[in-house]
Amino acid sequence: MSSSPRLDASFNGAVRHLIVVLGDQLDHSAAVLSDLDPELDAILMMEVDAEAAGTGAGIRSHKQRTAFFLSAMRHFALEQMDAGIRVRYIKLDAPQNTHALGTELKRAVRVLSPKLIRMTHPGEWRVLDEIEDAAAEADTELEIVDDNHFFTTPGDFEKWAKGRKSLTMEYFYREQRRRLGYLMDGDDPEGGEWNYDKQNRETFKSPPRIPNLYQPQSDEVTEEVIQLVQSRYPDNPGSLDRFIWPVTRDQARRALKRFIETRLDDFGPYEDAMWAGEPFLYHAVLSAPLNLKLLNPRECVEAAIEAYRDGTACLNSVEGFVRQLIGWREFIRGVYWTQGRDYRDRNGLKQYGDLPEFYYTGDTDMRCMSECLKPVIDHAWSHHIPRLMVLSNFALISGVQPRAIGDWFFEMYADAVDWVTTPNTIGMGMHADHAVVGTKPYSGSGKYIDRMSNFCKDCAYDKNKRVPDDKGKPPCPFNTFYWDFLIRNRDRFRGNNRMAMILKNVDRMSDNDRTEITVHGRKLRKQFGIGAISS
Ligand code: SF4
Repeated sequence: MSSSPRLDASFNGAVRHLIVVLGDQLDHSAAVLSDLDPELDAILMMEVDAEAAGTGAGIRSHKQRTAFFLSAMRHFALEQMDAGIRVRYIKLDAPQNTHALGTELKRAVRVLSPKLIRMTHPGEWRVLDEIEDAAAEADTELEIVDDNHFFTTPGDFEKWAKGRKSLTMEYFYREQRRRLGYLMDGDDPEGGEWNYDKQNRETFKSPPRIPNLYQPQSDEVTEEVIQLVQSRYPDNPGSLDRFIWPVTRDQARRALKRFIETRLDDFGPYEDAMWAGEPFLYHAVLSAPLNLKLLNPRECVEAAIEAYRDGTACLNSVEGFVRQLIGWREFIRGVYWTQGRDYRDRNGLKQYGDLPEFYYTGDTDMRCMSECLKPVIDHAWSHHIPRLMVLSNFALISGVQPRAIGDWFFEMYADAVDWVTTPNTIGMGMHADHAVVGTKPYSGSGKYIDRMSNFCKDCAYDKNKRVPDDKGKPPCPFNTFYWDFLIRNRDRFRGNNRMAMILKNVDRMSDNDRTEITVHGRKLRKQFGIGAISS
């Protein structure tokens, strides 16, 4: 791979179509590229501070997240150039860079005079608005093309959702299975069940032996980007000490192959388990290359099914993996585009607490939190249970404002793109979307964390207590906050059948027990810098 100085010599001639490719649109098979004429058209790619320093929405970006996006973009542009495509590539340190997508697009239109701007549908309302505004201001027609990376379009989802009282992912997923024919035995699901999650709740009794993650060789493009990010955004969160991400399609395919061959078979049974010092376990760690479109979900699904047919991966692992890709990922994207621009500001439980500073440092006595924060700080990644049942759960039950933790996930994860991060955090994690994504909050006490991990064994807190007593360790904050959450939302959850059992336990408590929990919860919120829940 040639080094990135080639990108400085950006194409500046007149074009017919200007094809805009954003950092999360690095799909060599994108429909928008399939009829590109190398003689007439050109690609526009833009590195701008508004996205690279933060996310364009006024929040910062983890250094490894930024380096991953920039390196993958530069590799993609160089590969297009190698294929004879003309690319106008605006580097971060280009002298005339105006550092916003909209202004850079207008500048490109002035230089290249295209008849038409074309692009794949962006993954964020804000970016869609910015591009549409810029094209209108540049008085140039804009064609937005459906993203053929996905199995469904937002319009398909809207049709499916229309008239339903609630949106249940499982029903959407079954329709996807039938329609796409994956893991089907005629009209029936392979093996007789649609979902094998009951077999996917194993935990580790002793330290697991985990095969190595695929580690791509760094090259001069990535090294240059790492230096650039270090020097340009020194105060952004996260570490660049060990960069782990595949930045080309070829590397992403190798990462997929390694997963299929060495970890897929154990993925299902242990997908919800956690273990100190082992953040990756048997997970694919492919969400980031998938969300940048270096991988296509079809090839991932088909490789997993082939492993099942060959007898090298069990059905419960393969079904769980396939469900993530054709079910959950598509469902959550559909929710994002049908719920509208205000989705990320929803606050159904009316919580207004601040996010504790330790989310950026990992510096806390709660062992589960420090263990789950470490891979986020080091690699901009953790698997779905640390995300949902530790990091998001803590924010939910302690009273943090949904937007604060939503922004944190957006800022800290290499796979963070608005269409997936916002519904996953605001809807699923924080139950703030008025029960669109989940009919019940994903709240849990220390008991769940203790069952699924070895974190509690060496923790400074007592997993069996929920309020302080005069001996031993202080009570587990997850326990205090969990019961405090239920006490303060008791009336709100009263009509929810799925919460009836647990609310009975709250009702059975004495007034004194409830008061003790409330008082200690308030004290902990002060200690952790969360402050008051109400506005
Ligand atoms: Fe986390 Fe509580 Fe267990 Fe400590 S005792 S690791 S705070 S769940």
